[in-house]
Amino acid sequence: MLRFLGDRTSVGFVDANVATTPMPRHESSAERWDWLLTRTPTVGKLMEKASLVAPSDPSGTVRLESVARMSRCRSKSVGDGWILLPVAYGFVDPLHSFGIAHSLSGIARIAEALLGPASNQTVLLRNYANDIRTEIDWFDTLISGSYLGLPSDRDFLAYASLYFVAAIEFEKQLVADPNYWPNGFLNAGHQPMRRAASDLWCTAKSRREHGPEKPTQVGRASRADGEDFIDAVRSAIQPWNHVGLLDPKLCQRLNHTAPPKRFRGVSS
Ligand SMILES: Cc1cc2nc3c(=O)[nH]c(=O)nc-3n(C[C@H](O)[C@H](O)[C@H](O)COP(=O)(O)OP(=O)(O)OC[C@H]3O[C@@H](n4cnc5c(N)ncnc54)[C@H](O)[C@@H]3O)c2cc1C
Repeated sequence: MLRFLGDRTSVGFVDANVATTPMPRHESSAERWDWLLTRTPTVGKLMEKASLVAPSDPSGTVRLESVARMSRCRSKSVGDGWILLPVAYGFVDPLHSFGIAHSLSGIARIAEALLGPASNQTVLLRNYANDIRTEIDWFDTLISGSYLGLPSDRDFLAYASLYFVAAIEFEKQLVADPNYWPNGFLNAGHQPMRRAASDLWCTAKSRREHGPEKPTQVGRASRADGEDFIDAVRSAIQPWNHVGLLDPKLCQRLNHTAPPKRFRGVSS
């Protein structure tokens, strides 16, 4: 949900299970919406007094919109006489809400290539093309790993901590020097963090497919309460976790504020 000015809020559903449990057929998008609200009563309650005001079709009729699949990635982002902005090149899922930051980072990088010395342009655009490919791949790991945790909200939150350590480390770097990102956007080029995320992704996938390891298994450190995945994430993120993510004492609340934002020389 994104709150706009006035009394409007932009609301959307992403159904991560749609591939495995397809939705029933609905006559209209409004009927589908009602079905989604019934299936998620807490959201339904929030929407109780809401009325639909947008979007409208060309005839002016207000109706809901839906798309079958959002994730996509093109094979090239730079060609002869054209460059794709990050979201035109690839999109994974709105989870974690970093799309605008990614778009702005793309604009900054493309502007740097186009406005700087012509002799640097080819190298900078090649770097941009390679980097956004790596970034989409990294987002895919972070997002699909979180969804693999479902239906356990604890496992979902545990994997999502990888996104938060990546975002915090990247923001710290931006504050230190907005023009220097040695580990790339959202730490996409940080190999130790990526290895940790890939290993945990495999564990999350295995748990999703086969369930948690049985505590009786000889020689395995699995826990009877099924929290072994959370332990594994906590230990994997420990080198970068300076804010207490997954600290049971903090109950998901962090005593930190966002640093002032500066993006490649622009401050706000
Ligand atoms: C469901 C969803 C939720 C999201 N939630 C968040 C969030 O919470 N936070 C966040 O930071 N980001 C979010 N994002 C990502 C964010 O929307 C994008 O990062 C951002 O909109 C990209 O900006 P853009 O200008 O590159 O592209 P867009 O915003 O897609 O703008 C491109 C525009 O070009 C128009 N266009 C396309 N082709 C043509 C053509 N041939 N001629 C003329 N016009 C054309 C399109 O109609 C569109 O208006 C979300 C994305 C989705 C899909």
